[in-house]
Amino acid sequence: MKIQMVDLKGQYAKIKKEVDAGIQDCIDNTAFINGPAVKEFQQDFEKYLDVKHVIPCANGTDALQIAMMALDLKPGDEVICPAFTYVATAEVMGLLGLKPIMVDVNEDTFDIEFRGLDKYLTPNTKAIVPVHLYGQSADMEKILEFAEKHNLFVIEDNAQAIGSDYTFSDGTVKKTGTIGHIGCTSFFPSKNLGCYGDGGAIMTNDDDLALKIRMIANHGQEKKYYHKVVGCNSRLDTIQAAVLKVKLKYLDEYSEARNQMASYYDENLAGISEIQVPKRAENSTHVFHQYTLRVKNGKRDKLQQYLAEKNIPSMIYYPLPLYKQEAFKQYVSEGFGLPVTEKLCEEVISLPIHTEFDQKSLDLITAEIKSFFNV
Ligand SMILES: *Cc1c(COP(=O)(O)O)cnc(C)c1O
Repeated sequence: MKIQMVDLKGQYAKIKKEVDAGIQDCIDNTAFINGPAVKEFQQDFEKYLDVKHVIPCANGTDALQIAMMALDLKPGDEVICPAFTYVATAEVMGLLGLKPIMVDVNEDTFDIEFRGLDKYLTPNTKAIVPVHLYGQSADMEKILEFAEKHNLFVIEDNAQAIGSDYTFSDGTVKKTGTIGHIGCTSFFPSKNLGCYGDGGAIMTNDDDLALKIRMIANHGQEKKYYHKVVGCNSRLDTIQAAVLKVKLKYLDEYSEARNQMASYYDENLAGISEIQVPKRAENSTHVFHQYTLRVKNGKRDKLQQYLAEKNIPSMIYYPLPLYKQEAFKQYVSEGFGLPVTEKLCEEVISLPIHTEFDQKSLDLITAEIKSFFNV
């Protein structure tokens, strides 16, 4: 059997009965748009996250865009985000005429570095978007403090960390995505809570914001055919909601399975001096959307090639800082650079991790990595 980055087929086999029944139900009732499963999933998800409002939408990128529209961010406003992230985080800013202010990340947690953010502030700074990269929370207590002090909105990009818990210094525990003013997530199939197509959601504890988000996602209307603001059409399909309703029940089990794989990798790879296994953030649990190593001495690409020759897949998330992308160069001046981001782009490699792993594949992957490093 071929090793895969993510084994969605194996996962489906275990929940096939429930998923098939949910999808069939949508078809039997031809309830394709805003059918009952959408509301049911929304309510289950609100309960799971312990958040007042979940507004389902079409994908994670839309979720971020709608969040920024709901906060009335205007062309010229500046929004701080990490430069080491998936493009969607900053792409929506470009679409809305906002200016992404790309900042560095912490080299241990890979999340946005809260130290030194002051130097990026201008009178136009309106918001900050922490991304909970690879599955663990950014240091939200510090980010909230910074945001409060400077009157900024906090939008969490939680596309990679659904199910992760953040603990504040007073002991309060919150799910990522429910901590800032608005949280955004994606149900892209390979995400930790993935559907069988595109999907996304927006989370908030603020009643007024929730109303506005719902209105914007629905053509700017509260009442059908009466449009208050210019909005968009962003819905979660009923069929996708039916799949998510089933998978949500297993999300904690899935996170546990990912953690078991991560522990096995840790134990077997930690002794290799040219590898840094992923460090855990102090105040967050990890849901291991990705298991990402740092490879020293410029050996990352050679390792990837070696693994590929042995039919072991791996991925580089992400090979290029946002500000070096053609599309985003316009937002920085010539010669702009962030040292940690640039180092990570050259050192990171993500290994297969998912919910269906077998010991044989794990043994093979770790054995091949050891053999590459001659240990
Ligand atoms: C996947 C992802 C998104 C976008 O989600 P889509 O559903 O693919 O639009 C946004 N931000 C991050 C960090 C992601 O990983």
